[in-house]
Amino acid sequence: MKLITFTHEGRTRIGIADGDEAVDLSSAAPDLPTRMVEFLEAGDAGLDAARRALESGAGRLPLGGVKLEAPVPRPPEFLGVGLNYRDHIEESGMGTPEFLVVFNKQSSCVTGPTDPIHRPRVSTAIDYEGELALVIGKPARHVPKERAHEVIAGYTVVNDVSVRDWQFKAPTMTLGKSFETHGPMGPWIVTPDEIGDPHALELRTWVNGEERQHSNTKNLVFDCFDVIETLSTVWTLAPGTVISTGTPGGVGMAMKPPKFLVAGDAVRIEVDGVGWIENRVIEEPA
Ligand code: ZN
Repeated sequence: MKLITFTHEGRTRIGIADGDEAVDLSSAAPDLPTRMVEFLEAGDAGLDAARRALESGAGRLPLGGVKLEAPVPRPPEFLGVGLNYRDHIEESGMGTPEFLVVFNKQSSCVTGPTDPIHRPRVSTAIDYEGELALVIGKPARHVPKERAHEVIAGYTVVNDVSVRDWQFKAPTMTLGKSFETHGPMGPWIVTPDEIGDPHALELRTWVNGEERQHSNTKNLVFDCFDVIETLSTVWTLAPGTVISTGTPGGVGMAMKPPKFLVAGDAVRIEVDGVGWIENRVIEEPA
């Protein structure tokens, strides 16, 4: 299933994308929560009810007539993995980390799959990072990597937009990773049964149609399951938590000379089997 959060006639709720239609779960399965985090908290019972609604044929709208929002508009936590593809580690001039490099993106930076990205007033060093992200579906604590697949609700595409000068002001990176609108996400959460092996997916990023990044999730240093094992050793990952797994080589910062994003640029990121997001850069509104 492709789980969506969408807005139609001024009301935002969850549904399922099915071909060129959206199944509105608020009418096809009115007992379900209408927000993604609460829906994921309902676990397998929620997913089963959604599947029945999908098969019932009820509550259908043309997909083109609704606005897709970030599938998890306000995740309980939003984390990124740094230095997780060898070519990006090399272009960053760093050594391969022996341990997971993880940082926070503030949940408030999440924005929709086609919403604008703001170029902040305080920086011109704004950059894209095309990434596969996973969404947690069950409370997860002390989950060994062999069982990590059991706690994944699905996968989505993230642009880990980064303000490079602010990113490197402090080792935690959080400020440079968390400007508002700097977490474009979507277009949906694809459930694992539709993905198969999450570590065999082509990933590409284009800026204004020019290919900048092209890799495959098989090149991850720490894969999705490693990441869950490590993080869940420390705390309980809650349903709806989004973990973006890192970006391959080809970011603007590493080009010679660096090529940062400017207003008017369109950044498109596509992960095979998951989908694409495309966001245009605008100046931060007054
Ligand atoms: Zn990143």
